[in-house]
Amino acid sequence: MSLTGQCLCGSVKYECPVAPVLSGNCHCKDCQRSSGGAYAPTFFVPAAAISILGEVTYYDNAGGSGKIVSRGFCPKCGSQMFSKSESMPGLIGVRAGSLDDTSQYHPHVDIFVSRAAPWDYIPPGAAAFPEMPPNPKG
Ligand SMILES: [Zn+2]
Ligand SMILES: [Zn+2]
Repeated sequence: MSLTGQCLCGSVKYECPVAPVLSGNCHCKDCQRSSGGAYAPTFFVPAAAISILGEVTYYDNAGGSGKIVSRGFCPKCGSQMFSKSESMPGLIGVRAGSLDDTSQYHPHVDIFVSRAAPWDYIPPGAAAFPEMPPNPKG
């Protein structure tokens, strides 16, 4: 299985030959603002395993835990593509909407659901956490 995707304009492309180590939907306010949507669907792969082509601009800010989160986007079309967090060293998050085949994304957790918008939808039976779970990989 290879995970491939791109931004809206095609300037940024990626390919990852290994499966995600963690997949989840983040409903925090920062993800709402940066994505423009209800949540950020994100899968994490080892940073060393993914090939990224094209120029990516990163914006850094402190997440809820105080650790720096860097969100990467295409400087041409603005598509949100990647995220790196100090709390998850060695991993890079990829926005699932950028996948060529979005059926490859299987979220296991929903986090920060206490911050979810009133019009957000969290499926019944989802592993939903009000904040960040103590061990998101568990
Ligand atoms: Zn683009
Ligand atoms: Zn978030």
